[in-house]
Amino acid sequence: MFNKKTIKDVDVAGLKVLVRVDFNVPLADGAVADDTRIRAALPTIRYLIDHNARVILCSHLGRPKGPEDTQYSLRPACRALSRLIGRNVVFVDGPLATDAREAAERMVDGELIMLENLRFNPGEKANDLDFARELASLAELYVNDAFGTAHRAHASTAGVPEHLPAVSGLLLAREVEMLTEILTAPEKPFVAILGGAKVSEKIGVITRLVETCDALLIGGGMAFTFVAAKGYPTGDSIVEPEWIDAARHMLDAAREAGCDLILPIDFVVAAEVAEDATTFIVGREEIPDDMKGLDIGPATAELFKTEIERARTVYWNGPMGVFELAPFEAGTRTVAESVAQNTRAISVIGGGDSAAALKKFGLEGRVTFVSTGGGASMRLLEGASLPGLDALDDKVV
Ligand code: ADP
Ligand code: MG
Repeated sequence: MFNKKTIKDVDVAGLKVLVRVDFNVPLADGAVADDTRIRAALPTIRYLIDHNARVILCSHLGRPKGPEDTQYSLRPACRALSRLIGRNVVFVDGPLATDAREAAERMVDGELIMLENLRFNPGEKANDLDFARELASLAELYVNDAFGTAHRAHASTAGVPEHLPAVSGLLLAREVEMLTEILTAPEKPFVAILGGAKVSEKIGVITRLVETCDALLIGGGMAFTFVAAKGYPTGDSIVEPEWIDAARHMLDAAREAGCDLILPIDFVVAAEVAEDATTFIVGREEIPDDMKGLDIGPATAELFKTEIERARTVYWNGPMGVFELAPFEAGTRTVAESVAQNTRAISVIGGGDSAAALKKFGLEGRVTFVSTGGGASMRLLEGASLPGLDALDDKVV
């Protein structure tokens, strides 16, 4: 249950509403290269203008050194939003105290303005009190729809809501609902698939998943730390030696919790990570010294497919191999297709690279939900609290 107020719990008509969105999008040649995050914010923005609010959008983009770092300007994102929403969005790149205030005062109901990159001001990351107060003073209501930064206590996520009535946008609410639902009340069987480069980044999530899921399938680079924990050779594959004990501990914890932790039984190996690499398929216990494991093998892909087919809840985070290169994409493709084909299951995808893999295979519309926040979804699944969520007003029941 989502226990915070959302935009649907308040009357927004005629109000100046400061909306923290996550427009931290990739840029190329001065244009938005991937507008997924902008599209994800559209339901909230549309709802607000349809209900006659005056919308002031704000976001960060990248890690600029200061306002002179103009490659991090949000102007391209503002242009992309204008096009997507079919309306003019006024871009305000001047100071908050003068330009932004004037623009906000001039707005009429249903109008939109967008502020320049919040991180051009050092007060954003520092959660500076004066900066937060100044931002807050532009508006009468605060909306957080930036799931991707909800795990950070910055001025626009944690500071501003101390000064204004603060509610959740539709995206943030759905993200939190989807991710908490799979952890607290998943329809069984619940099958989780984890991959990606490093076990260290996802150990907290593995710990939690082991307690709730029926099967945990492990692929990607992180599998080799588990292979090492089993005492098998890993060749030249990526292994995190200092996490081998933790992996061993996870194997024990899974056994105790009755979670079927399934490691790959074969791998695609090659001497080099290259588009034209010569590949071999080897069993789990026979990775040659001079070879890297770069994808799960075909027998593993079939095994994972069978597990995914019987699931009623699926959580997938992290590719099964170096899916960016054709010789190592097959395992990730099989997992993506199996998840998409299981239409009886609720399927939730977390992690930027897993989302990119889905997109590469043309399957992004075929799953229940693709999370827009990597770090934030990790924190939530670990059971940690999110400062940007905690700061919002509780729903009174
Ligand atoms: P996500 O963003 O979905 O959470 P990660 O960032 O954890 O995923 O990991 C994705 C990266 O892991 C990809 O760039 C992929 O190439 C890499 N990767 C997957 N399997 C391997 C492997 N066996 N060896 C090296 N890198 C791998
Ligand atoms: Mg990633």
